[in-house]
Formats: sequence, C-alpha cells, structure tokens
Amino acid sequence: MDLKIVEELKILKNVLVQENVSLSEFTTFRLGGLCPCVVTCQRPDQLEAVIQRLTQADIPFVLIGLGSNILVSDQGVDCVVVRFVSGAPKIALDGEDLIVAASTLLDDVVVFALKQGLEGINFASGIPGTVGGAVAGNAGAFGSQISNCLKSVEVLTCSGERKECLPSDLDFQYRDSALKRSGEIVLTVRFALCRGDRQKLFKEREEILNLRKEKHPDISVLPCAGSFFKNIEPGPPEKMRQSAGEICDRVGAKKMRCGGAAVFEKHANILVNSKEATAQDVYNLSQEIARRVKEEFGVNLVREVQLLGEFS
Ligand SMILES: Cc1cc2nc3c(=O)[nH]c(=O)nc-3n(C[C@H](O)[C@H](O)[C@H](O)COP(=O)(O)OP(=O)(O)OC[C@H]3O[C@@H](n4cnc5c(N)ncnc54)[C@H](O)[C@@H]3O)c2cc1C
Repeated sequence: MDLKIVEELKILKNVLVQENVSLSEFTTFRLGGLCPCVVTCQRPDQLEAVIQRLTQADIPFVLIGLGSNILVSDQGVDCVVVRFVSGAPKIALDGEDLIVAASTLLDDVVVFALKQGLEGINFASGIPGTVGGAVAGNAGAFGSQISNCLKSVEVLTCSGERKECLPSDLDFQYRDSALKRSGEIVLTVRFALCRGDRQKLFKEREEILNLRKEKHPDISVLPCAGSFFKNIEPGPPEKMRQSAGEICDRVGAKKMRCGGAAVFEKHANILVNSKEATAQDVYNLSQEIARRVKEEFGVNLVREVQLLGEFS
C-alpha cells in the first residue's frame, strides 16, 4: 500500500482511515479477513475527494455501504475499501421530494418520510443498508422496489465527474441495476413521494417490522446478509418469480450446515454465521445448496449476496 496516499487521506477532514483492520467489523455477516486500508466517508463531497485521490494515484479500491449484502473472503482483500455510510441521516425536504446523501441508512429515510406524512417508501421499513447500496441493488420488499420511488440519482462516474441520472438511465431490474456493472458511485438520491395519512403509514410500518421480525434472524445473534439467492425468474408458463426460499427448503436446506455456517430455521434462503463460521463455510454451504437445487430441479440459483475477495 502506498503510504503517501494513506497519509494524504488521513489529512482529509471527517474522513476516517483505518489500517490493517478486519473487514468482519464492517459486514452484517461479521465475516471477512484483513484489509490494508479502510476509509469511511459520510458526506458526498468527502467521498468525492477520496475517490479522486485514489483514482489519480491509480490505487485500486472497492466501495461498500453498510456491508449488509456482501460476503467477504477470509483472506480479506488486497486493496482499499471505501465505506460510504453514516448513522446521521443527511436528508433535505423539497416539496414532496426527499434529497438524500447515499450514505444515509435506508430505514432512516423511511422514518423521516413518515414523520413528514409522505408515502411511497414505507415498503423499505427495516431493510438494513445504505441508500447507495439499495439503489445499486434495487432493494425491495412486499412487491415494491427502490426504483419505483426514485426521481433522479447523482453518481460519480469512473472518470471522477458528477452526473445526474434518471431511473430510465440505470436499467433497473429485479435486485439489479447498471450501477453494479458500471462501477459508478451513487452520491445523492432524489426520492419522489406523495402525501399520505401519517397515522396509517406508521401503523403499516409497525406491521411490516413485525412481519420482518418473524421472518428474519436478529443479526446481532445470527449474523447474515438477508436472502442469499435471488428468487427464480419465471419460465414461459409461469408469471410469478418462484421463491428461492421454497426451492431451497425442498432440497432440505434447513437441515444443512457447513462448519459454523447454517441455514436459518424459518427461511431456507437465509444463510447464517451461527457459530464462528468462516466465510468459506458460508460459501461452501451455498454451493452445496445450489448444487442440490440444480440436481433436483434443473434450476441455476443466482446469488443475491455479492462476494468480495477470493473463495476456493
Ligand atoms: C437481515 C437482513 C434483511 C434484509 N432484507 C432485505 C430485503 O427485504 N430486501 C432487499 O432488497 N435486501 C435485503 N437485505 C440485503 C441488504 O440489506 C440490501 O441489499 C441493502 O440495500 C444493501 O445495502 P448496503 O449499504 O449494506 O450495501 P453493501 O452490502 O455495502 O454493498 C452491496 C453492493 O452495493 C454497492 N454499493 C454500496 N453503496 C453504493 C453506492 N453508494 N454507490 C454504488 N454502489 C454501492 C457495493 O459496491 C456492493 O456491490 C437484507 C439484509 C439483511 C442482513
């Protein structure tokens, strides 16, 4: 690692630079090996300054948000990891629109919107992660997805310029967008919401959070990254996506484990770090589930969780 650049980054105001840290601290799986340098930024201008310096010095980096949709290798990564995440919401109200820094946690945006009596984003109640991660992966729940409530997205291009994009520019698909392939970074997002009934919205949020509590593990006890595989795209006769959880259940996933990695007892598509798992354990378990699903149903499961680093 170029020590000069590390020292330069340390001088930047409000940017946290940590050297030789375990990435397990920065993922909801609580897994991942060492990284030579982790840089945490909270505001778009700070992130822009960091990315510009890394790009100019030709230093490779990967960007993450809260780390709630990634599995990092036990060997860690041999590049800079830039985290764009903030526990302090950065949200401005403009009529019925919200302009939000992509480092803001998605659930904080939901709470802000509800307090203003704005509807359109309540479906995202309780989804962990940042707004940037949610836009890149088109996060969703209960039949809605983040692309449905976007008006525009400001990105930092690979050449370091700011660019305003419309949702139609970003090729949003089920849990996918062009951002996953282009490497462009989401800086700020404009959500288009509409007036709703505050009381009704808060009641709906409570119901959603209760449902999520029933269906998902408590990540402080059973670390995970949500659904491991994407639901299965419909073939010609069917119209609905087939639940990956159901098909994993049918091959006996809930009884499977590998080292410390297991499958959540209430949801066969959620792999958990149950007891001192390694990232390789989780990976091996996922491969075995996918193998059985292919063998029994001829279906190729596609990972929703993204891998970072090397797996064998
Ligand atoms: C208990 C639990 C429940 C979950 N439930 C759901 C659910 O209901 N629905 C759902 O869709 N997901 C769910 N997830 C998965 C996860 O919360 C979402 O995918 C979330 O949007 C990821 O955001 P993040 O900030 O953690 O992204 P990370 O995991 O940090 O990164 C994921 C990807 O996004 C990219 N990325 C991150 N920030 C940016 C940015 N600013 N610009 C460009 N790219 C960026 C990264 O490069 C990486 O490729 C769940 C996860 C957990 C642990």
